[in-house]
Amino acid sequence: MGDTTYNAYITAQKQFDSVADLIDLEQPIRELLRQPSREYHFTIPVKMDDGTTKVFNGYRIQHNDARGPAKGGIRFHPQETVDTIRALSLWMTWKCAVVDIPLGGGKGGIICDPHNLSKNEQERLCRGYIRQLAKNIGPTVDVPAPDVMTNGQHMLWMMDEYETICGSHAPGTITGKPVGMGGSLGRTEATGYGVIYNLREALKELNIDITKTTASLQGFGNVAEYAAKLYTKLGGKIVAISCWDNHDKKAYTFRNTSGLDIDKMVSIKDSFGTIDKVKAQDMGCELLDGDEWISQDVDIILPCALENQLTPATFAKISDQVKVICEGANGPTTPDCDELIKAKNIYLIPDFLCNAGGVTCSYFEQVQCNMNYFWSKEEVLEKLDYKMTSAFHAVHNLAKEKGLYMRDAAYVIAINRVAEAVKLRGWV
Ligand code: GLU
Repeated sequence: MGDTTYNAYITAQKQFDSVADLIDLEQPIRELLRQPSREYHFTIPVKMDDGTTKVFNGYRIQHNDARGPAKGGIRFHPQETVDTIRALSLWMTWKCAVVDIPLGGGKGGIICDPHNLSKNEQERLCRGYIRQLAKNIGPTVDVPAPDVMTNGQHMLWMMDEYETICGSHAPGTITGKPVGMGGSLGRTEATGYGVIYNLREALKELNIDITKTTASLQGFGNVAEYAAKLYTKLGGKIVAISCWDNHDKKAYTFRNTSGLDIDKMVSIKDSFGTIDKVKAQDMGCELLDGDEWISQDVDIILPCALENQLTPATFAKISDQVKVICEGANGPTTPDCDELIKAKNIYLIPDFLCNAGGVTCSYFEQVQCNMNYFWSKEEVLEKLDYKMTSAFHAVHNLAKEKGLYMRDAAYVIAINRVAEAVKLRGWV
């Protein structure tokens, strides 16, 4: 996805290898952690509404569960690949470790385009996925959640299928469920808000007043929407948003240099994050090319879409005004682009720290499900802010103390925690 000359799994392994060298990680631990522990690849036959049967390919990959059950989303995407899911499973392990929650890393996916599936077909696909996987997931084994193009309804169908197979209630099996059905208040906002809790702390460290900043966003799905809402609430101004238009099969950037009205933009997007271009222009937005989000004269850019978006080719267009990159997406930056970011001295909040709010709230959801006692939204968001803020400062302080790039500092903390768990368990 993004620039297809890059492979996300190779990126994730390169990032890991360079930090493993830096901390002189023992060879067997390296071998164990640079690849997934277990992979499930399977087919899912689905009866379509027109009476035909279509076969989909599904995956669940568990990278590591030394610190707790594997944890991570399930993605629906037509261009999904096994290597992307492998990479995402590695990043989930580092994500849970850097925010210090007792979970490991996993990821799943189905190669499909939900734009072309009816609600009933999507339900049958979700149930078919769980039928293939029920033996290998569960509250103490591996706990899925939503990711790109999946939502609470998908999670609920999956949970229902799992409970039907097991013959008992098991709400801790899956997170990101609808509120009232075992979901946590604040889960919808959590990833986007977590991105902005990180940004708020980074700007304080950089002595930049958030109310004087401008930003440009890539993506307008769940993460970008709530990041945009909280950032503007804190006084920032979003001047551009780029998103995919499934009808035209290309991305567009929507710009308003006096600041986009986020609530209005949300009111004209569909459930996949596509903004209606006619309505947006009626509202006074300029319609620009999809990759122009990166060349805007702003202080902050937030890639909140897919992998491999910041490459040397796209980075060549970045404005000299940009001071902070907030990675709301997983794996948006390629390793060769990391070198350019370092050289330009732009402050980077790396993906598995920046977007860890989602899984942190998923962890809270599991805790609430296990207790069968649900917290208020204020309580959830307060705990989330505390977790994210502490994780951010631990990474920032290490980066400052050791002169490390922020991504490497986050990796040092995460890898050390997982390596310690592996050693304590006696696996190596
Ligand atoms: N899919 C989200 C992520 O990449 C959330 C995972 C979860 O809640 O388990 O972090």
